[in-house]
This record gives sequence, C-alpha cells and structure tokens, in this order.
Amino acid sequence: MSFPLVNAHTHSEWNASKNLGYGDGMIPWIRRVLSYQSRDQEPASPETTISTMAKQGITHLADHTANSRRPIPSSIRILRYREFLRDQLPEGFSSLSGDEGLAPHSLHTVFPSVWETLSGLPEDVPLSVHAGESKEERELFETGSGPLAELLLERNYPSDQITFLKGRTPCSILNQYGLLRPTTLIVHGMHLFERDYHLIAESGATLCLCPLSNRSIGTAFGSGSASRRHTVERLRLIDRLDLSLAVGTDSLLSSPSLSLAANGELLLEFGLDREKLERAFRNVSFFPSAEIE
Ligand SMILES: [Zn+2]
Repeated sequence: MSFPLVNAHTHSEWNASKNLGYGDGMIPWIRRVLSYQSRDQEPASPETTISTMAKQGITHLADHTANSRRPIPSSIRILRYREFLRDQLPEGFSSLSGDEGLAPHSLHTVFPSVWETLSGLPEDVPLSVHAGESKEERELFETGSGPLAELLLERNYPSDQITFLKGRTPCSILNQYGLLRPTTLIVHGMHLFERDYHLIAESGATLCLCPLSNRSIGTAFGSGSASRRHTVERLRLIDRLDLSLAVGTDSLLSSPSLSLAANGELLLEFGLDREKLERAFRNVSFFPSAEIE
C-alpha cells in the first residue's frame, strides 16, 4: 500500500513566474502581482507544475486555476479549483463533478452577493478559500479600514464590500452560508480570529498552511522576534484545537520554491509536532470521496 503525499495549495498558472515576495508585507506584494499580471503574462502550462511535483513524489495536488482548460492526463491526482474574483463565477459552477472544485478567491475579493448564491451548492463540491493571510486583512475585518480597504476602493470594489466584512470574521461568514464543510480548505490562516479556528475545528474543514509563501511575503514565519512569537502562538492554538491540517507550496509568485519538504521543515522549526506534520502531508480529506488511508 502506498501512502499519499499531498500538496494542498498551488496556482499552476503562476509557476513559471519569478518570486515577487520580498518580505515587505502583503500590500506591496499585491501591488507587484497586479503590475506583473497587467503585463499580459502568458500563464504557465500545467506540465511545469506536474513534473516538479512528480519529482518530489507528490501523489495529490490541489490547484487553483482561472481557466477552463481540461486537465491533462497525469500520474498525480489533481483537484482543480476554479478560482474567481468579484462576481465572476465560472460557467458551469453549479454542476462541477469529479476532481473539480470552486475557489472563491477570498472573503474580501469576492462580492457579498456571491456567498448567498454559493449557499445552494451541493455539499460535496470542494471549496478552497484564501483567508487570514495577513494582518492587513485582519484589520479590514476588525475596523473596515486600513491599507487593504484602501486598496479595494482603489480597485473599484463597491464600498458595501467593506461594510459587509466589518465586525465579522472570514470563517463565520462562510459558516453562515453553509460553506464551511469537511470538504472546505481554508488557505494560509495565520491571521484568522480565534473564533475562526474554533469554527474550522467544529466543521471538520481543513486548514492549509503555506509557510514558505508567508515568510517570503513577510506575513508570518519570519525570523524577527515579533513574527516568530505570532507564528508560534498560532501554531500552538492550531495544535490545541487539533485542526485538520494540510500543507501547500503556494505558487512561485509568492514563494521562492515549490518544495513541500522545505515547507515542512519550516513548520517543524516553528514548533509543529512532527507527527501532525506527517498527518498533514497525508491528508486527503478535502478530496472528493476521500480515500481511506
Ligand atoms: Zn494562493
């Protein structure tokens, strides 16, 4: 019997890119990504990612993609989440099947009306959502202001986007619409609210950690004492609640490498229990019809 080895988060389209995370935080990184993407970059072919993953022995890959191309045959099982922003729900979103899921990019980049629409999705449609990636995101939820709120307005998001989030938390919104499920993946999660971690635990959703990406952008897993303290404290809470965990490499836009092992090393360095890390590497619970280990 062979064991699965799971990379629970990447964006294969951006895996021919150069790392744009220089450790100066979320907002400067987003600005560099927007500028990079506006230069009409040709998306990388999925083969680039598949061969990098196969070399590491990865058997299961969760990929965010914004295009509708059919998957290419591969020895790796690939869960393709169709990612979208604002209200740009992909065609056929309500009739996804097999290893296809939906990735509403994040609570702050998807319009409030969409969550209502998604609440009617069948229970078994896999969902993957970025949440709790930065302190700026947390500030947006707490106060309805700050640099991320300013950036959204600058990008012509309607002001009710911000009103909708203020005073709430990412996972409580998902939970309100019945979207926090055992097949839901919450990606990053190092700046969620305490209530969110409890909701993840109660729902059986999985938290996907992407430490190398966080370190590279400068949101967590940093070498400075404040970042170290924050990261260790979060990992302790995650450990105490015994959350279902997974590990993702994220893409080369945010991370210097697609090595799953390097991500694991960083988690160990910041205090994650080795046995929990091994379980996270083998976690296929968010794949459709999860395999019995
Ligand atoms: Zn991502």
